[in-house]
Amino acid sequence: MKTYLNYINGTWMSSQSGELLDSIDPATGALVAHTQSSTAHDVELAVQTVSDAYTGSDWGSNSHRRANALLKWADAIEARAEVLAALLTSENGKPIREARVEIAGAIDALRYCAGMARNVFGRTFQPAADNFGFIMKEPIGVVAVITPWNWPVLLLFRDLAPCLAAGNGVIIKPAERTGAITAELLALLADIPAFPAGIAALVTGLGTVVGNALVEHPAVDMICFTGSTAVGKVLMQKAAAGVKKVALELGGKSPNLVFEDADLTRAIETSCRSLFMTSGQICMAGSRLLVHESVYEKAVDIAKTFAESLRVGHGRLETTDMGPIISEKQLDKVLHYIEQGRREGRVITGGYRLRGAEYDNGLFIAPTILDNLSPSSCVVQEEIFGPVLVMEKFRTEEEAIRLANITPYGLSAGVWTKDVSRALRVARQVQAGTVWVNGYNKSYAEAESGGYKHSGIGRARGVEGLMEFTETKHVNISI
Ligand code: ADP
Repeated sequence: MKTYLNYINGTWMSSQSGELLDSIDPATGALVAHTQSSTAHDVELAVQTVSDAYTGSDWGSNSHRRANALLKWADAIEARAEVLAALLTSENGKPIREARVEIAGAIDALRYCAGMARNVFGRTFQPAADNFGFIMKEPIGVVAVITPWNWPVLLLFRDLAPCLAAGNGVIIKPAERTGAITAELLALLADIPAFPAGIAALVTGLGTVVGNALVEHPAVDMICFTGSTAVGKVLMQKAAAGVKKVALELGGKSPNLVFEDADLTRAIETSCRSLFMTSGQICMAGSRLLVHESVYEKAVDIAKTFAESLRVGHGRLETTDMGPIISEKQLDKVLHYIEQGRREGRVITGGYRLRGAEYDNGLFIAPTILDNLSPSSCVVQEEIFGPVLVMEKFRTEEEAIRLANITPYGLSAGVWTKDVSRALRVARQVQAGTVWVNGYNKSYAEAESGGYKHSGIGRARGVEGLMEFTETKHVNISI
């Protein structure tokens, strides 16, 4: 069993605290690895050395170097993809097939951003005969990237790749539960000379200690955070004291809207899959399934059959569709919502912790579907982050849109209909950063994603995703 160190100034080192965090396989309860439980002192050293590497190298001004470095990192990850996927599954519990998707997504983000690094263009303008101006894009400086445990590789690279491509230095603070996989990925960067020593640092530890120290540090210019809305709000308040830029991707309670003319089986099965993926522990999970009343009972049957056909188990098995819940705390929270749903409405399927030889050492919940709930119920309104799908009925297009927009969140939505005009009308009116029509979870490195309302600020991926990591400067020349 390995003990992972922090990566600071191009060197692997222990935390000054001498304390460790456990990384536990949630499917078996087995210890996977130790990571450093770092302190504000470690953060101080990381910020100082990243800042020195940024100012002391040509990283911010040499786009060819950056493109080359990112491409090499992508190649190194690709060469170890299967080993990395296996570690990700051990640490997070997710099915190995999903872990492979994450690794592939990270490689794709790096390659896309390597190309983008050489395309960070500004604009020119000529307001008068004796004046010429240009608008240029510059790196921001030192960025802290704070990541969650649910998609710890893809979500890290979604932000890290554009952050580095834009020429910044970066300090990575992974979630407490997924420090080992993050360290393995950084170890591959450490061997690539195109990265200036110290330009990227890894400091593992508690959010309230390491995350907080990064947010409060005056030399950290930007906070890029993916996680819960509750923590995002705290970070934003703290960042305000230092007038720091923030990019936040937060929670979701995303609806799939299924109209009566949709391909019902495809619509319902894809919607269910979008929720039960990662055991519902995904911000874009399609956790609300809104169906036209004329096909509602048929939809309930399809959803129930689908949920009951899912193979729940250890992610290492190729046949597993759904793995465990990440922690006891999260398991209790999900079961609490299920009990609330049982009191207020109907349990269509599931609704309990799985027990038996295969499950006893792990944290498994049966795929659960609830309905007959009021739109104001906390089960409908709040992000559960577990395998709990809520089904709701609507009569008209207007009601579907009203219900879709009823929660504080606005991350993503699905619209299922054969009527193109209706698809466009609904897509325009649903308040969400991504709207899929007749599909779900189709994410691309080149397409922006992010949240309306309480789901976040700023956009990840695409051109805007890279521009989040730049400052804009107007240079004006009097001729
Ligand atoms: P999740 O429910 O996905 O774990 P969190 O919002 O709790 O979401 O955590 C996301 C990331 O934010 C993790 O890396 C966590 O350690 C970090 N974090 C948690 N609390 C704080 C905090 N008060 N300040 C900074 N970072 C934090």
